[in-house]
Amino acid sequence: MKIRYFDNAATTPINEKVLIKMFPYLTNSYGNSSAMYTIGRHAKKAIEEARREVADIINVKPKEIYFTSCGSESDNTAIKCFAYANKDKGKHIITSKIEHHAILESCRALERQGFEVTYLNVNKEGIVDVNELVNSIRNDTIMISIMFANNEIGTIQPIEQISKIAKSKNIVFHTDAVQAVGNVEIDILKLGIDMLSASAHKLNGPKGVGALYVRTGINFEKYIDGGHQEKNKRAGTENVAGIVGLGEACKLAKQNLGYHINYLTELRDYYIKRITEEIPNIKINGSLEKRLPGNANISFKDTDAQELLFKLDEVGICASSGSACNTGIQAPSHVLTAIGLTPEEANGALRTTFGEDNTFEDVDFLVEELKRILNDK
Ligand code: PLP
Repeated sequence: MKIRYFDNAATTPINEKVLIKMFPYLTNSYGNSSAMYTIGRHAKKAIEEARREVADIINVKPKEIYFTSCGSESDNTAIKCFAYANKDKGKHIITSKIEHHAILESCRALERQGFEVTYLNVNKEGIVDVNELVNSIRNDTIMISIMFANNEIGTIQPIEQISKIAKSKNIVFHTDAVQAVGNVEIDILKLGIDMLSASAHKLNGPKGVGALYVRTGINFEKYIDGGHQEKNKRAGTENVAGIVGLGEACKLAKQNLGYHINYLTELRDYYIKRITEEIPNIKINGSLEKRLPGNANISFKDTDAQELLFKLDEVGICASSGSACNTGIQAPSHVLTAIGLTPEEANGALRTTFGEDNTFEDVDFLVEELKRILNDK
C-alpha cells in the first residue's frame, strides 16, 4: 500500500542529501571532536561547518548557536537556564496559552520554584493579544517567550512587534521556532529576537538534534554538567552525525525556501478549497493569512478525529488529530481550546501538514477518502 504522509509537523522524512552528508560521521569519521588526532579534528571541523549553516539560515553569528538533543531541550534550556541565571533581576515570565508543552511544562517547573508566569490569551485565530502582553509586563519581567508558529494550527505570531515591545522594556525575547525554521523566512537581525529554538527533524533533518540561538551577551546557566563542550554550556560528546545533518538540512532549506513556501502553500490552499467546497459543516482552525505554508487544521462536524485517523491509516494516509492522548485519556488540545473551540469541535479536528514529497494527486486521494469515510459514518 502506498503511504501518503501528511504529518510533516510531527516529523519530516530525512532528505537523502542530508543522509549522505551524515554517513561518514557514522562510519569512518567516528572521531571524538575533543581529540587532537586527524579524525577527531575532522569531527570538530564538521561541527563548526554545521554551526555556520544553522547560523546562516536565521542570520546570526555561528558562536551564538548551541547544539542540543532536540527542540524540547532547546526550549527547556531557554526558559529554565535563562531564568536561573537571571533570577536576581526578576522572577516573572510571559508566555502564551498555545505554546508547545516543552515551553509550558518548563514554565510550570519554574512556578514550582517560585517564579511567576503569565499565560497570554490568543484570539480565535490563535494570535496573541499584543495589548494584553503590554499590560502584563511588570518591573520584574525578565523574559517573554512566544512561539514563532504554532504546531497545531500553523498560526504565525507578530514576532517583530513582540520583539520591539520586549526590547523597549529591556526584556529578553525567546521564540520557539521549531515549526518555523525552514518553513518561513527568519532574519534575526531584522526581527531582533534574543533566543530561538529549532529542531532538525522538522526540516528534513535527523531526529535527536536541535539548536538554540542565544544572542551574545545573554547569560544562561549550563544545562548539562560534565565536560566543556558547547562553550561549556552543554556537556556531552557531540552527536556529530546529527549536527552535520542539521547543518545540511538548514543549508538545503535556505537554498530551497522560495520554492518550498510556494509549493506547500499551493497544496494547502488546494486542499482547503476542495474541503470547503465539497464537505459541509467544516470549520477551518487558525488564521488563513498568517499561517505556515503547509498547515491545514479543519474540524469536521459530529466526527471523532481519532476514529477518522484509524480509517485514514487503513488506506495509507498519515495525519494527526487535535487531541492529545495522555495515558489513554483523550483530552481536547489546549491550543484548540484556547482559540475557543468547543470540546466537540476540538475532537473533530484533523491536522494535515504537507511536505515537498506530497503531490496534488495525493491531496485528491486524501479528499476523496475523507468524503468516503465521512459519508459512511
Ligand atoms: N516546539 C514545537 C512548536 C514543536 O512543534 C515541537 C515538536 O513537535 C517541539 C517544540 C519539540 O521538538 P522536538 O520534537 O525536537 O523535541
